[in-house]
Formats: sequence, structure tokens, C-alpha cells
Amino acid sequence: EAELEAEGDEDLEARPPVVTVMGHVDHGKTRLLDAIRKSDVMAGEHGGITQHIGAYQVTHNHEGLDRKITFIDTPGHEAFTAMRARGAKVTDIAILVVAADDGVMPQTVEALNHAQAANVPIVVAVNKIDKEGANPDKVRGQLTEYGLVPEEYGGDTMFVEVSARQNLNIDELLGAVLLTADAALDMRANPNKDARGIAIEANLDKGRGSVATVLVQSGTLHVGDTIVAGTAHGRVRAMFDDDGSALTEAGPSRPVQVLGLSNVPRAGDTFFVTADERTARQIAEKREAADRNAALAKRRKRISLEDFDQAVAEGKIDTLNLILKGDVSGAVEALEDALLKIDVGEGVQLRVIHRGVGAITQNDVNLATVDSAVIIGFNVKPAERVAELADREGVDMRFYSVIYAAIDDIEAALKGMLKPEYEEVQLGTAEVREVFRSSKFGNIAGSIVRSGVIRRNAKARITRDGKIIGDNLTVETLKRFKDDATEVRTDFECGIGLGSYNDINEGDIIETFEMREKPRV
Ligand code: GDP
Repeated sequence: EAELEAEGDEDLEARPPVVTVMGHVDHGKTRLLDAIRKSDVMAGEHGGITQHIGAYQVTHNHEGLDRKITFIDTPGHEAFTAMRARGAKVTDIAILVVAADDGVMPQTVEALNHAQAANVPIVVAVNKIDKEGANPDKVRGQLTEYGLVPEEYGGDTMFVEVSARQNLNIDELLGAVLLTADAALDMRANPNKDARGIAIEANLDKGRGSVATVLVQSGTLHVGDTIVAGTAHGRVRAMFDDDGSALTEAGPSRPVQVLGLSNVPRAGDTFFVTADERTARQIAEKREAADRNAALAKRRKRISLEDFDQAVAEGKIDTLNLILKGDVSGAVEALEDALLKIDVGEGVQLRVIHRGVGAITQNDVNLATVDSAVIIGFNVKPAERVAELADREGVDMRFYSVIYAAIDDIEAALKGMLKPEYEEVQLGTAEVREVFRSSKFGNIAGSIVRSGVIRRNAKARITRDGKIIGDNLTVETLKRFKDDATEVRTDFECGIGLGSYNDINEGDIIETFEMREKPRV
């Protein structure tokens, strides 16, 4: 259905470039997106009232011409990767933000790897040059090692020194984006046909129903068109700009908020115009069925530690791909060293395809999905959203707090001897609000239940900033006000005591679970 119509040169017209801002956390992506938006020379026209719709367009005066640029307003490469994993190409150019005082950091490298893998030209914004200790030349040197050679060193990457806080050189940065686009890309599309494009973000609004931001990539979208976006469909009832003004049409590279869809498309879903509402509904239904089948097929293809030996025996696989995440780099290194010493047996190999420090992220799961890897978490856990994604994608994640337990499992899997019979089933989570000292019960964590239920005698684990700080604990005391309780549900407050375990702070998350026999599949 994504056939490319042959298009004559004469049908094509210039369109604005679409830009994503990427970089390490805290290097100033959000602030820079704000500064860019405020630099819009047309901002005065609509009184500067703006709203977040996931993308916006600014007009920049470049060499005497007013030129538009579209920015995707979800900073970070996770959104970019997720869309790319779904086959969507949204971005023409990436701005890589690097804080001049901090230099190149792990996510800087990750971001540039993603952009390079997608063949997206990069413009480097060396940010925070107002800060003491800013060293933009160091950033130039560091990035040269990754193949981003500054023009001033004879390369072809534009570096612009900016301060998002002081609005310094924002115009120069936009100029560099346009120069890079003009030099490297064919920025044209045919506006005179039915619209096609990509969903950027969407949500369900109580009053307005499905509210989806889409980016038109070619053609022109009109109010009254019927469209399919992923598995959502419907007639475009109204369209809005990022400043809230109603539109009747939107041409190439224009992001618009669309009302009228049957449900919520996912970021990266493609959309296109159909002849009528019936066709749109039929396509959406077909897609929904195809999605379900694809999910099932994918699940069957994923490898888990448990069925690794079977897959080997059937000649389907000979490599166990692993992603290692840990709370400290020493632990990750120790784990990897120990893993590489395992005698894996003939014809089988073990490969660590990615390692890192910190919580398990959406990116780790995406990578595991692409490369059929098993994720090993050492003293770290995924966020709830990430766990759901892994579950949906059928990615095997395992958590350990003792290196030998991890080694044992993997060794057993390689030898076809892994037979875990129990699995953890999460019962609920609670957030600690205040800690009370009780001479009778030890510390009591005054908490609010955030999800599921907290049950007395359940197993418990404590995480702080995504890291496990206490494990193998038991909910020994559970109170509602002064009374003992056996169970406390979501949104209720309770007091939780973990026996003699006392390392609890405000803000910690107490996660409770029980061990259940694992269904054999
Ligand atoms: P993000 O995580 O990359 O989106 O980073 P933010 O935009 O949230 O910025 C992180 C912190 O750096 C915030 O406290 C910003 O105010 C600060 N910051 C961002 N840009 C600049 C800058 O140009 N100069 C200075 N001094 N601080 C900045």
C-alpha cells in the first residue's frame, strides 16, 4: 500500500526540512527547542501563544529569504529510534546537542550512531558556551573521532556554538541547518495530491476524542479528507497548528493536530488519504488483524534463555545474544568477563551486543527486538512502560543481584539444562512518602500504593532512582492507619514494614511480588 507513484520533476516543489534534536540528557535539548521556537520571525503574528503538539514550524530569514523549518518537539533519540524501528523516516536532519562544559557523553554517541545509521546528516550545536569551563574545541576534537569532522578542520560537519539559555547564535544554528539541507538533500515534494505522512504523537482527550499530531510528508491534507493512520481511521473534522489556530489544509512538512480519528495512532504510524470512510475502516481493520498476527509471529521468533537449547537442537540458532545492564560499570564488566569465560560448547557462541550502566530502557528493548537478544539486568530494573514493551515484543529479561546466579543461568541455558520453575509476578508498587521509626516494628514506610496491591507477607524489593537497593525482603508489617491490613489497593495510603531492613528513604519505590509456577509453553 506504500507504493511510490512516479512523479515528474515538474510536480515537485520545495518543502521545509524536518529536524530532530538529539543528545545526552541535560545537555539542553528541551531548552534549545524552546529557544528555537521563540526565534520564529513570524511569532509576532499569532501573539506567541503556543501549545505542545509534538512538532512545530518556525520561519527563519536565511540569506534574504523567509524559510520554514519543521522541528519534532520530542527531544531525544528514543522517539527517533522507536519510529525508525517501525520503518518510519521522519527526520531529514539531526541537531546533535553537546554541552560545551560536559563534552561527548554516552548518549551523545548513541544519538549520533542512530542518526548515522539512518543516513541523516548531523549539525552539531555546541551548547552552554555561556558557562564557565565551556570548551567547544574539545567537543570538536572528541566528535572528530566519531567521524563528525568540523568544517573548520576540513570536514563537512557544521558546528555552531550556542547558548540556549542566552539565546546566543540560534539564528546561526538555523542557518547551518538550512545550508546542510540545501547541500545534502533534495527537499522537494508534490503538494498537489492526496496527503501522506506520519503520526508523531497522539492522545485521547476527554472532550475531543482522539487528538493526533501528524506530519504531512507529501500532498496536502484537507479538513474533510478521510484518512487511515496505523489502525486508526476517520474523517478529518478539524485541524490545528501548533499555535492553536484552525487550518483547512496542510502541505508537505507541515505538522498538524488532527481531530476525528476513531482511535489513537502510534508514533511512527504512516497515514494516507482514502477514497471514502468505508475504505478507511476496512484498511484499518485489516491492519489491526495483521498487527495481531505479526505480534504473535514475533513472539514465537524471540529467543528466551529457556528455549535456547531447543532452538540450537533444531538448528535455528547458534548464538546467544545478550544485552547487559548494571547499576555500576564495575559490575557490568565483571559480569561480562565471567560470561566470556564460560565454556559454551561446540557450535554455540555467546555474544554481548550491548552493555551499559543504568536502568533498562526502551532502546535496550528495541535493540533486543531487532537482534533477538536476552536482556540481563544486574541490580537494575526497567521502568513500567519499558517492561510492558518487552512483554509485548516477547523479549526475555532477567534480573539478578548476584553475579554467580546470572552465570549459572546462562551456563545452564547454553548446556540445555535451565529449568526455572518459578517466576516473579508483580503484585503492586508503592511510593514512600515519609519514614517513621517504630521501636516495635523497625522503620515503617508511610507510602501510597501506585499500582496493583500491596499484600502482607509478599516478597518485596526497593528501588531508588531505578536502581535496586534492597532485595529479597518481605512485607512483614502492613498498616492502614493504626490497623493491621492484609491488602492495600492502588491510591490508598499504608504503612509498610520490612522487618529489620531499615534503608528506606522518601521517594523510594517498594515493589511487591509473589513467586508463581511458570507455565511451560
Ligand atoms: P535536556 O535533558 O537535554 O532536554 O536538557 P534541558 O534543556 O532540560 O537542560 C538541562 C539544564 O541545562 C537545564 O537546567 C537548563 O536550564 C540548562 N541549560 C540548557 N541550555 C543551557 C545553556 O545554554 N547555558 C546554560 N548555562 N545552561 C543551560
